[in-house]
This record gives sequence, C-alpha cells and structure tokens, in this order.
Amino acid sequence: MKTFYITTAIDYANSTPHLGTAYEKIGADVIARYKRLQGFDVRFLMGNDEHSQNVRKKAEEEKLDPKTYCDQMAVKFRAAWKALHISNDDFIQTSEPRHHEMVRALAKKIYDKGFIYKAPYEGHYCVSCEAFYQEKDLADGMCPNHKTKPEWIREENYFFKLTAFAEPLKKLLHTKDFIRPESRRNELLGVLETGLQDVSISRAGTTWGIKLPFDESAVAYVWFDALINYISGLGSLDGVLFKKYWPADLHVIGKDITRFHGLIWPAMLIAAELPIPKAIWGHGFISFKGEKMSKSRGNVADPMELVDMFGAEVLRYHVMREVPWDKDGDFSIERLQLRYNADLANDLGNLLSRTISMVTKYVGPTLAQPTIAHFAAVIEKIKATDKLYENNMDNYDLSAALDEMWKLVSYGNVLIGENQPWTMAKDPAQKEKLNELLYVVLEILRYSALALVPVMPEKMKEMLAALGTTLADGATFKSFPYVGEQKEFNLSLPGPIFPRLDLTTEP
Ligand code: ZN
Repeated sequence: MKTFYITTAIDYANSTPHLGTAYEKIGADVIARYKRLQGFDVRFLMGNDEHSQNVRKKAEEEKLDPKTYCDQMAVKFRAAWKALHISNDDFIQTSEPRHHEMVRALAKKIYDKGFIYKAPYEGHYCVSCEAFYQEKDLADGMCPNHKTKPEWIREENYFFKLTAFAEPLKKLLHTKDFIRPESRRNELLGVLETGLQDVSISRAGTTWGIKLPFDESAVAYVWFDALINYISGLGSLDGVLFKKYWPADLHVIGKDITRFHGLIWPAMLIAAELPIPKAIWGHGFISFKGEKMSKSRGNVADPMELVDMFGAEVLRYHVMREVPWDKDGDFSIERLQLRYNADLANDLGNLLSRTISMVTKYVGPTLAQPTIAHFAAVIEKIKATDKLYENNMDNYDLSAALDEMWKLVSYGNVLIGENQPWTMAKDPAQKEKLNELLYVVLEILRYSALALVPVMPEKMKEMLAALGTTLADGATFKSFPYVGEQKEFNLSLPGPIFPRLDLTTEP
C-alpha cells in the first residue's frame, strides 16, 4: 500500500489556537482525509512547540513549571483539534523524551560531520518570533512581524554551516513541486541569490530546552529543535514507522516560516545524511477585517466559539472555500453566514431534500438504475468534474476543487428547474424519462457527498446515509460504484442537514 506522511507546523504552546492556526490544520486534514479515501496508508502528525522562551515566561507567570504548563496546554490543543474533527494520528510535544532523544542524536550526527562550530554572536532578537534579525530586515528598528523592539543579544553560540549547502539547496528549489505555491519558491530563490548565512542553533543562559550533546551547558535553539519533530514523531531512525513513512510527503506550514522549512530543514537533513521531504506547502494567512490575526495584536477569532455557533464542519467548509489555500483571505462572520445559507442550506441541502421528496412521491423510496437515454450528458459532466476535482486535490488546490464541486451542485439545481419533474410526473408517457432525471440528480448528490467527505466528514456521512449509502471506516473512493453505476437508491428523508440560518433576527 502506498504511504503518505503529512505534517503541520507545530504551535507555540503559550496561547490557545486561533482561527489562523485552525485554518492550517483544517487544510492539512482535508488533504489527509482525501489521501485516505484514495487508498493511501496515511500518517498525519501535529504537535506543540514548547521550548520557546515565551512558553517559559508564560509558565512562570502562571506559577507552574514549564513542563506542567506545556502538558496543560497540550490538553487544550488536542481538545480544540478534536472539536474541529481533525484526524491526526499522533500529537507530539517537543518536551517529550522521544523528541529530546532525536534532537540530540541528529545534533550529534551533524556535529560529527563538521557542520556545527562555535562562535560569538550578537544581533537583534525578537522574542515573539524567536528569531534573530539583521539591521536591514527590521522595519524602523522594529520586528517586521510584531512591530515590537527586538533585544540586542550577545553570546557564545553554536552555528550550523548553512552556507555549505547553497548548491544542493539551489538544485532542490529547482526541483518541480518541492516548494509550493510558486510564489514561495521565488521568495526562497531570492534569499539564495542574496547569499545565505550560517545560523545560530543554540542559546546560552537558559535551561528550558534540549541540551546539546557536545556541550551540555547550551540548549538547542527552538527552531533547530522544532523542525526535528517531523522525524521524532516517527520514533527511532531504525524503527518501523521511520522506515515506512520517511521522507514526509508533505509539510503544511504558514508562509512566514517557509525559509526555515525550505532552506534550513533540508540542509540539516543533508548534513545528517537523511532523505529530505518531498514537498512543502506554504499557505497564506487568514486576516480578520484586513489585519493579520495574531494574539499579540488582539484580533484573534476563537475557533471554539465559531464551532459552538455554527458547528465544526460548516466552519471547515467556509474557510476552505473562502480563503484560497495558496493565497491570503479575509474572514468575517457575516460572510460565513451568507455562504452557509447560499452554498450549504440552499444549493446542497435543499437539492438533497427536494430530490429525495420528489423521488419518494413520484416513484417510492427505492429508485432502480434506469437505462440512460436522455441524460447521458449529465453522467459525462459528473465524470468530468471528478477529473477536475482529483487534479485539483492532487495539486493541493483545495479551494479550486471546491469551486468545481459547487459548479456541479448548481448544475443539479438547474437540471431540476429546467426539466420540472413535477410537470413530468403528471404525464405517464414521461415516466421513464422522469426516473432517468431523478437518477442522474441522485448521482450528482451521491458523487458530491463522496467528494466532500474530506471537508465535511460527518455531514457527508449523514447525506450519504439519506441516499442509502454507508460510509464505513476505512472506505476508499473505490469502495463505491463509479459515477452512473449505482444499481439502486434506497432513500430516506433526513432531518435538515444544513438548516437555514435566520439572518433577519440579527440585531
Ligand atoms: Zn517578531
């Protein structure tokens, strides 16, 4: 069985998930679920990044030791991801022994190969980014991301010889599809052109972190530590999981950390003589009324509140449809409500309930597969949509795949409007044609529900059940009859799967 190993960025444990972090996990989950339906043996890893100095500070404020604090935060993160129906197979905390062991093992390997050296370091350090900045990268002396004044830090540090890898990195960036979307690759090629610098991989004067094996007085810089989670999440280098799933097929990350993943991480792996991941996807940001969402700016939308208001799957659908997976987008509750009523309640939900009502009324709860004489073009259209959907999903163009699906759903509504089954039902001579029409619309619904399982797994399970199809655990697309080959439909009228929101009662 073909394997597919997918990861997301791990999150700083000092604040609870906001909609921006949730967006990334939802997108990765859609890909993981799609790959499982395609028949891949998928492993999906997420986790928390715990060795940052902000985490230590936050724990101190709460009068907890950092590990206790991190464990408490991990419980909250896991609960949030569960509430959003994220199907990760594992959740790694970087304070876990399995991660400490792997970071020390890889640091030693890279050190032994001569790619780590000691030197004094000074520079502008943004605590929120956990990153050093050069003078030229600051915006009016402030961190470009946080608009706060960085600290000037001087200490003896260990450095990773990133400069030794300029050539292999250049080659790698030119490998088709290694970094996507294309805009992110161009950004990194630009960095290569201006010249790489060796990167500090240690911090002195703190005990919260992973001690370096060649100097126990220093801890690993949080980024050097964090990147390695993708491997430590698989266990030891000679273990079953590592052999089965490494290299990763896809790292899903935010566009702000593309440099770490597209340059430093592959260089670390080359230095350690390990295979590099196959692809990196740097998604854009969700803004909130035009501003980047971040805790320090105080404009975060709480995904848990949105789940309470609208349900997990409505939120999943909305952000995947509204915010292109390769670009930035804006979030507002007003847009979510409008889209919910238009796309889910109206286009999809209403098509399902009215079609089932009509079949039940004109034919009965069971509709057998008719000979297709008049509506062969509809079957062809579903097949064509299937190809477009698959291409887009395979290219991780999730919003484009959804656009195609909604064209098909709209077409189902148009078919009913144009052919008026209620008129056909009055004419016994049209009986065969009516059955055919109802069958092809049911096929649109069945196919749409299957294709939308990765985005709305529970809702689509309900929809398939109404169509007489069971979505069993471990099912793949191939477990179901292909488009136009469903032998019969045994229908049952469901409760409203997407009840319309009454927007007139809003204050
Ligand atoms: Zn910053």
